[in-house]
Amino acid sequence: MSVLLTNIGELVTNDPAHDGSGPAEGGTVPGGRGTAADGIGVVPDAAVIVEDGRIAWTGPAASAPAADVVVDLEGRCVLPGFVDSHSHTVFAGDRAAEFAARMTGEPYTGGGIATTVAATRAASEDELRARGRALVREMLAQGTTTVEIKSGYGQDVATEARTLRIARELTPETTYLGAHTVPAEYTADRAGYVGLVTGPMLAACAPHARWVDVFCEPAAPTAFDEDEARAVLQAGLRAGLGARVHGNQLSAGPGVRLAVEVGAASVDHCTHLTDADVAALADSWSPADGGPGTGHGTVATLLPAIEFSTRSPYPDARRLLAAGVPVALATDCNPGSGYSSSMPFVVALAVREMRMSPAEALWSATAGGALALRRDDVGHLGVGARADLTVLDAPSHTYLAYRPGVPLIHQVWQAGARAV
Ligand SMILES: [Zn+2]
Repeated sequence: MSVLLTNIGELVTNDPAHDGSGPAEGGTVPGGRGTAADGIGVVPDAAVIVEDGRIAWTGPAASAPAADVVVDLEGRCVLPGFVDSHSHTVFAGDRAAEFAARMTGEPYTGGGIATTVAATRAASEDELRARGRALVREMLAQGTTTVEIKSGYGQDVATEARTLRIARELTPETTYLGAHTVPAEYTADRAGYVGLVTGPMLAACAPHARWVDVFCEPAAPTAFDEDEARAVLQAGLRAGLGARVHGNQLSAGPGVRLAVEVGAASVDHCTHLTDADVAALADSWSPADGGPGTGHGTVATLLPAIEFSTRSPYPDARRLLAAGVPVALATDCNPGSGYSSSMPFVVALAVREMRMSPAEALWSATAGGALALRRDDVGHLGVGARADLTVLDAPSHTYLAYRPGVPLIHQVWQAGARAV
């Protein structure tokens, strides 16, 4: 059965084929799609044909072919579903009191993670599953059709594996983050904990994970330094996982350098960067670089809801964009440093606080997230893409930042079926 979505006021495809001259200007991600600098493939007065869960046709409504079912969207804007490439949505407990204390003057150090670890270890599998499901539903209702979920609140073999089993029920994009922080019982034996993370815990978790991640931050006493983080990533790579890194959140540490060194798909936070970090990220996309630079460089994923919720300076998105580094935007939804599940909120922050244009922010929240997950079937609406669409109750994508805090999501389609 084919479905024609028509009378679309503005269709955002992220498909360079709809940018007239194609991806000639600005940088094009080698071996991948265009970047926001090329445009976001806007078609005015558009229509989409969906068939077998995929995009079968996009173009002007006036020239749309016939279909079995017709849906009139009455001039609304249609976007690719958001790709939230960084979240921690399987956990137990609540840290509202910590947030309130922070808002009245206490600094964020990452130490509160231990509170969530204790609650998550004590929770039943059903409790964890119910919370994870509810958060993913909440994300879907806000237009997110692809989500990545990390472990990291277990920090023992059984709880990390349980978290990833539950996460795998919710998404194929699961990330093993046993190396989130060093749990209290290993404070005096950090090497012992790294041995656990790279040994028995990895063996129990790898079957349920696509990615390995580490919180590399020498400025945080409970996070991991460069050598520890390298050991974690290399063990994960040997187990067949792809690499991602939490880096450069609290200081200009080694996270970015290490992410590029191991060919990570993404380094997330990037709040404190040196010129060398920016150059290394840009170079990772250069075909001349060989190795990971064959269209699979390291994306800079920015998480401005964390700076919002920890009242910290925002990352310098313009510096990265000027250097040609692909930028993704994600929520980092977690109970401590930022408990927003909303990609529209992240887009609004990126535009208002990080001076991204509405088009750049939209690209980063969709195609950028897909690139950070090395997925070419989501984040765009080119022919053949998975039919994941978000319909805004607004005439253009600019409204996401123009009307912050307003529920603009009118419909969400996932793999060709109406989900919201
Ligand atoms: Zn995170």
